[in-house]
Amino acid sequence: MSTKIAAEVNKRRTFAVVAHPDAGKTTLTEKLLLFGGAIQVAGAVKSNKIKKSTTSDFMEIEKQRGISVATSVMGFEYRDRQINILDTPGHKDFAEDTYRTLTAVDSVIVVIDVAKGVEEQTERLVEVCRMRDTPVMVFINKLDRVGKDGMDLLDEIEEKLKLNVCPLSWPVGMGPDFKGVYNIYEKQLNLFAPGTKYGDLTALEDLDDPVLDKLVGEDYAEELREEANMVMEVYPDFDREAYLKGQLSPVFFGSAVNNFGVKELLDCFVEVAPTPTGFHTEERDIEPLEPKFTGFVFKIHANMDPRHRDRIAFMRVCSGVFERNTNYLHVRKNKKMKFSNPTTFMASKKEVVEQAYPGDIVGLYDSGNFKIGDGLTEGETLHFKGIPSFSPELFRYIENANPMKSKQLAKGIDQLMDEGVAQIFTKTSNNRKIIGTVGQLQFDVLQYRLEHEYGASCRYEPVQLHKACWIEAEEEEQLKEFLRKKAQFIAKDKEGRYVYLAESKWMLSTAQQDYPKIKFHFKSDF
Ligand code: GDP
Repeated sequence: MSTKIAAEVNKRRTFAVVAHPDAGKTTLTEKLLLFGGAIQVAGAVKSNKIKKSTTSDFMEIEKQRGISVATSVMGFEYRDRQINILDTPGHKDFAEDTYRTLTAVDSVIVVIDVAKGVEEQTERLVEVCRMRDTPVMVFINKLDRVGKDGMDLLDEIEEKLKLNVCPLSWPVGMGPDFKGVYNIYEKQLNLFAPGTKYGDLTALEDLDDPVLDKLVGEDYAEELREEANMVMEVYPDFDREAYLKGQLSPVFFGSAVNNFGVKELLDCFVEVAPTPTGFHTEERDIEPLEPKFTGFVFKIHANMDPRHRDRIAFMRVCSGVFERNTNYLHVRKNKKMKFSNPTTFMASKKEVVEQAYPGDIVGLYDSGNFKIGDGLTEGETLHFKGIPSFSPELFRYIENANPMKSKQLAKGIDQLMDEGVAQIFTKTSNNRKIIGTVGQLQFDVLQYRLEHEYGASCRYEPVQLHKACWIEAEEEEQLKEFLRKKAQFIAKDKEGRYVYLAESKWMLSTAQQDYPKIKFHFKSDF
């Protein structure tokens, strides 16, 4: 069996495409699926971004997505590899959802708009990758438009994303004068030919090859020689080991909408990207080739159709083989569970799966048993690490607006927090509940869903808070003193851990200075 697992693991590449909204994530994903033959026509992948940022827009999209959850994971085969692309929400208010998805992938492709360069959301997403040493590949998109100079962009990526880069291709011209890209390692020129499947490839002896002048004109040929030589001098050669450790990021240039430069990216990706990697648990590290099955839930998708209340828990298989109708241990609940309809996702269709291997994502129908981070095993007690909640930035008191429905409200809040819609903190001084989010829209979604799915109604009240951070001290006494002195500003999170609610930046830094022995954590997995 273990050779079978090894063969399956070697085939798999599980990754996410991330980007600041509008950089071209959806377009690139769709082109990758087209290459894999997973879809036949452009336009088949729906953008999940919310243009107007209103609740009803969002709910509409969620309803559609809830029904066709296939868009959450898109699998396809390409050159004998099984590629799993995990979709991430396009809206920044749901960044936490993306962070959690990043815990379930082995690598990431970052899309950057050549004109806009490194944008805010890209910085945060890559920061999460760096925290986990996730290998990152960069695709600089929209070369058919006038944008920033290639060298400047690489500087920007190194500076803002703190990635060491290694360009594997280099653009010739841009915007209306975009001629194509030169593949530095293959010594190939790919001429920009919009509308063709692969562009127009020409092998060159080297950069001095006079064919280059004929193809792109003397001026552009000269410019390419100068720039490519400089790039080769300044930047390190590609080193797969360094890439796999998250220390070196290959960079490609292209135009996703024109399908240009995408094949180079994909071909390189399937060659070098990591196969399913290991995972950390509190008890021990898990290796993918272990014979026994382990997996964890990283995302829960509610079914918004009130007639079918089932949710889908997305589980990443970490080791061994997951099998249908087999008893597994739900570690947190210490309960045996088996699944009769586990689902996998192949681009536009989903199907019941008999067996799944490390790197695969399986959808488990769930009536409220799972929460994010839950582990499944063949019996071993393992608690998965590294599925952080981030310290939220927006806060409101949540109050019951219909006393007749307090049970429903409590249940709704409980389940929706497990799903990761927002975070809840209960003040220890007066038991008032505070909802914390990273985006405004999350408050509205929570209220909407409490009403529509649980028949409960809530009301928000303002609370002046700057940050909530988890606190820890080496000695019990120190913690006790802090809790006593700051009693008004202490809450517990859903797991019962102490949280300090800082009213302002100043209050936080004063607390940090006054209590050097207290550790203030800005994410939950410390
Ligand atoms: P996402 O928000 O990152 O998923 O971005 P989309 O894939 O939806 O793309 C945003 C916009 O950029 C759409 O209008 C795309 O058609 C456009 N776009 C994507 N790739 C390119 C490209 O290579 N060149 C140009 N000019 N536009 C592009």
